Amino acid sequence: MSINKKTAMVSACLLGINCRYDGKTKLNTHIFKFLEDYNIVPFCPEQLGGLPTPRLESTKLNNNKLINKNNKDVTDQFLRGAKESLKIAEIIIPDIVIFKEGSPSCGLNTTNINWKREQGSGITAALFKNSNIKLLSDELF
Ligand code: SF4
Repeated sequence: MSINKKTAMVSACLLGINCRYDGKTKLNTHIFKFLEDYNIVPFCPEQLGGLPTPRLESTKLNNNKLINKNNKDVTDQFLRGAKESLKIAEIIIPDIVIFKEGSPSCGLNTTNINWKREQGSGITAALFKNSNIKLLSDELF
């Protein structure tokens, strides 16, 4: 890490890490270009919450609970992942955080509710919205 650079936390799947539920990535090379002058810290809330990779896809329900495709309640794992991600932010104090839209964890402006992409925030993004950190959507890039 360079001490002269700013720091960005980024949803790890955007950086080419194969951490998505399907074991794949959502690499966005434009983000690397934008972050040339940043130290980059990847994070994946669902992995931090103890879920395996690959894993069953999950969605939020209207009552803020989360279930996976087997109807198993995974709310605790999602909450744990959100808190662990915020813990990382509290340690490294990033200048920005870039979140992956549409995710039940990372979606900043859109998330997955009842298996559909809807306006709203994922569990982790919602927690970060209570901080003073600058939050950016991957769809800006
Ligand atoms: S939880 Fe976030 S970082 Fe992990 S795969 Fe989903 S969108 Fe990417």
